Amino acid sequence: MMILALCACTSMQPSSASFQAMDTLMSLKVYGGNTNLCDTLKSRIQTLDGLLDATDEKSEIARLNAEKSAAVSEDTDALLQRSLTLCEQLGDSFDITVCPAVRAWGFTTGDYRIPSEHERKALADRIDYRRVKADHGTYTLSAQTELDLGAVAKGYAADVSADLLRDGGAQAAVLNLGGTIALYGKKPDGSRFSVGIADPENPAAYFGTLDCDACVVATSGGYERYFERDGKRYIHILDPKTAAPVDNGVRSVTIVTENGTRADALSTALFVMGLDRAADYYRAHRDFDLILLTDKDELYLTEGIFDDFSLSDGYDYTVHRLG
Ligand code: ADP
Ligand code: MG
Repeated sequence: MMILALCACTSMQPSSASFQAMDTLMSLKVYGGNTNLCDTLKSRIQTLDGLLDATDEKSEIARLNAEKSAAVSEDTDALLQRSLTLCEQLGDSFDITVCPAVRAWGFTTGDYRIPSEHERKALADRIDYRRVKADHGTYTLSAQTELDLGAVAKGYAADVSADLLRDGGAQAAVLNLGGTIALYGKKPDGSRFSVGIADPENPAAYFGTLDCDACVVATSGGYERYFERDGKRYIHILDPKTAAPVDNGVRSVTIVTENGTRADALSTALFVMGLDRAADYYRAHRDFDLILLTDKDELYLTEGIFDDFSLSDGYDYTVHRLG
């Protein structure tokens, strides 16, 4: 019995990997399945990064942005199709053609600046996903249009990873893709997954913990990338209507749902919507869960996860239930 128990234990040691991709530190933990599954995931994610990174001039997205028309790989095609559908569903809060505005504010280079109102107006006019046309894997952009898949690339990487884990026979996996956390399968010891939700003021700490089964937990926060001028903070999440950083009292939005690409898009979009519109969007759909923190330390949790969330010690947020 003892020996059996020991064997069971050692065979359940996860394999793991940490590496830099998509501008963030990723860490993977995989239980069971083919040997090298971690390496397979890692190299697939790095390949995706090389296709999707608009700031890498060799990427397919950069080429499309420069040449305005190009045939793309299956992955880029799949993600563009999903993203364009999400743009339609999410209305004016989410748009994958924010690229010129993200660049103008300096978020791609770190050379931060505040574009004039006139420039912002011109940038906002350039944001419109309807100017992206698809035809059997060939995409065409209008002359002023450029793509930025920063809001969905990690979510798509989560979806691709889930397929690889299934094909490779993994039992479970915890993939931290930098703010987007994918939980796959069932843990060997039968316990549920437990995910820390980053404190926007101190992202190394967690303001709370969520217990959940297989799903994707995607968080958007102003803290990932921002700059300050005259005491005001400018974050990398932009309102497509104004081409300016969002400043609506939201500090972080976490989405819990099965599809990673959708989770990632929703976390960005509901951040842009702000509390009231995000709550309305939730009530109209109810096929995802939401954790929204405001700058007044008000924390909103949807009913589907309300009982699975616990606030960390030392955080006296006011907790509200969204139903
Ligand atoms: P993070 O990359 O920090 O996890 P998000 O998933 O919210 O955060 O993605 C933010 C990135 O998405 C920005 O860096 C920018 O490239 C892009 N982006 C910003 N605002 C929008 C928007 N309203 N719609 C679509 N993409 C956006
Ligand atoms: Mg996102």
